[in-house]
Amino acid sequence: MNIVMLGPPGSGKGTQAQYLVKRFGLVHISTGDLFREILKNPDHPLYQEVRVVNEGKLVSDDVTNRVVENAIEKLKDSKGIIFDGYPRTISQAQALDRMMSSVNMKVDVVLDLNVTQEVILYRLLGRRICPNCRKIYHVNDGYTQCPDCKVPLRVRDDDNEETIVKRLKEYNEWAAHLKDYYSKSNSVYISLTIDDVSKTSQEVQEEVIQEFSKRGLV
Ligand code: AMP
Repeated sequence: MNIVMLGPPGSGKGTQAQYLVKRFGLVHISTGDLFREILKNPDHPLYQEVRVVNEGKLVSDDVTNRVVENAIEKLKDSKGIIFDGYPRTISQAQALDRMMSSVNMKVDVVLDLNVTQEVILYRLLGRRICPNCRKIYHVNDGYTQCPDCKVPLRVRDDDNEETIVKRLKEYNEWAAHLKDYYSKSNSVYISLTIDDVSKTSQEVQEEVIQEFSKRGLV
C-alpha cells in the first residue's frame, strides 16, 4: 500500500507516518529529509540546486522529482511507500503517478490530516525541545528541563505566531490544488479533521485505522 500524506506543519504528519511505517511495514520517503541529507554533502551532484532549502524556498519540480525517482527505484520491492512532503505541486503529483506506474505501483491512499489553525497554534507555540536528545514536549507537560538529559528545554526560532501563520497560509495555498487533484483520482481519499487541542496522537492513530478498516484497507 502506497500512501501520500497531506497535512500542515504541526499536524503530526511525521508522527502518524512513523506509526504507519511500523503498522504496515512501509518505508518512509520525506523529501525534506532527502534534501537535508544532500545538504550534508557539498560534493553531491544536486547540492547547488538543493541549497535553496536554506532560504526557505521550494526546490524545483525537476530536481525534486529526480530525487524521489531515485528513492523509489531503490524501494520498489518494499511493501509500500509513504510519501511525506511530496508531492507539493500538481506537476510533482503527475510525475509521481508516472513514476509509480513505471514500477507497477500506484498511490493507493491519500491521508489528509486537516488540523485547524487553533490546534496548530496551540501545539507549535507550546512546543519545547530538548537541545540534546531532540525530544519534543509541550509547555503544558510542565517540564522546564528535559527529564532525561536534565538540560533546559528550548523554543524553536520559527515557532512564533507570525511565522506559523505564514507557513500555514503557504501550505493551504499549495495543498488546495493537491486536494482537488487527488479527490478526482482513483486513490482512496481519507480526510480527518482534528479540531480539538486535547486529542492525542494515539487517538488520531486509532481514527486513522478506523478509516482504513471502513474502506477494507486493513
Ligand atoms: P519539510 O521537511 O517537508 O518541511 O521540507 C523542508 C524544505 O525542503 C522545504 O521548506 C522545501 O524547501 C524543501 N522541500 C521539501 N519537499 C519539497 C517538495 N516536494 N518540493 C519542493 N521543495 C521541497
